[in-house]
Amino acid sequence: MTVRVRFAPSPTGMFHVGGARSALQNWIYAKQQGGVFVLRVEDTDAARNKPEWTEGILSALDWIGISRGSYEGPYFQSQNAGEHRAAAARLYESGRAYYCDCTREDVQARTGSQHQGYDGYHRDLGLGPGEGRALRFRTPDEGATVVVDLIRGEPTFENRLIEDFVIARGDGSPVFLLANVVDDMTMGITHVIRAEEHLPNTPKQQLLWDALGVKPPVWAHVPVVVNEKRQKLSKRRDKVALEAYRDEGYLAGAMRNYLMLLGWAPSGDREIVPWSVIEDEFRLEEVNPSPAFFDEKKLRAFNGEYIRALPVAEFIDACQPWLTGTGTIAPPPWQPEEFDADAFAAVAPLAQTRIAVLSEIVPNVDFLFLAASTIDEAAWTKTMKDGSADLLDAAVAAFEALESWDAESLKSTLEAVGAERGLKLGKTQAPVRVAVTGRTIGLPLFESLEVLGRERTLTRMRAARLRLV
Ligand code: GLU
Repeated sequence: MTVRVRFAPSPTGMFHVGGARSALQNWIYAKQQGGVFVLRVEDTDAARNKPEWTEGILSALDWIGISRGSYEGPYFQSQNAGEHRAAAARLYESGRAYYCDCTREDVQARTGSQHQGYDGYHRDLGLGPGEGRALRFRTPDEGATVVVDLIRGEPTFENRLIEDFVIARGDGSPVFLLANVVDDMTMGITHVIRAEEHLPNTPKQQLLWDALGVKPPVWAHVPVVVNEKRQKLSKRRDKVALEAYRDEGYLAGAMRNYLMLLGWAPSGDREIVPWSVIEDEFRLEEVNPSPAFFDEKKLRAFNGEYIRALPVAEFIDACQPWLTGTGTIAPPPWQPEEFDADAFAAVAPLAQTRIAVLSEIVPNVDFLFLAASTIDEAAWTKTMKDGSADLLDAAVAAFEALESWDAESLKSTLEAVGAERGLKLGKTQAPVRVAVTGRTIGLPLFESLEVLGRERTLTRMRAARLRLV
């Protein structure tokens, strides 16, 4: 039997990191089993659907390494509506489902409770189809539904505790539970690997598989992803959109490595490992069923390591969207013609060891490409003290006299200027850095000045000096 798994996102306008994790787990499982990965877009909620959202899913998957053309699909749930309706009709005709026209208020009036489920009132009243009548599944009164779950063992649900749930609404449209089962069935899905949030649906869905006469799939409910307060990651509260991480300059390699560590770890106490090791060693059965903490700080640290591990040329390439304003990323603060690839290449190795996400390249190198540095006023006030004017005057004079404009000479020259005033290099550097880059922190100063060049450096230092009059 060929293993067939699917990833079945609902388009919601962004791609949740938890979804990306499930997609990767499906992807690896299919690969390991010599199986097929199917992408199905669950787009039946027509009111909440936009074509660009589907495009967003495809491009997010592509970014994370599940590239277009390398899987089956995308299929669209909405295109299978006929099958969903036919299955509902089959369940009705075989007596496994019945019509009911109770409103929620009717049920509450009878049961006296807001919380209990449906009381089975219409089970045997023989109501036929009709406008406003929902179709309910007749759950067995006895026995239990045993779900075979690769991660959770055999969660067992007593059938008498499962209410007669709705499978088609009053307007005849099948609900998610049924559509999802019918699609899995028609697409020959053998393993359903999805988020734990769906576990409460699983016994109901398995009953539907049974009632439709098809062997249910093997399930694997991967752990819910939580924030530092152990709350389920939510798009209102947490940064959950994969696209947001991508646009901030997380590397796809770091992201997918990190996502795979949610509930699982490679051998030998390692966390940062090549993707091939993960593909090799990952075992769905070993995934820890407890909630998985999505630790943004750790992800950031991971990303920094991945950035440092890049060959410099790749690092330079990877920074391009932030430097040249391509793609969906915010344009840089300088004009495109001011960008100087050679100057960037000269400082890139210095920047590479200092940034954790690629977007941080901009504040580190903008001084090279802006006509004048943008002075951060807080940095200015903090740094420019009594004596800064004198220091800048002396530094300008000393730099003007330099024969060779290189980091070494710049450093020893400024060191001497400071020493004459009883200042250590750190204190001497600070006003020069703010004058030239506008900031108190950044790349090593003397290398920066070397790349910026004599003329621009001196112009900026003189301008800063004038401000101090
Ligand atoms: N469309 C569902 C969701 O995005 C997935 C259902 C499933 O994986 O079975 O939550």
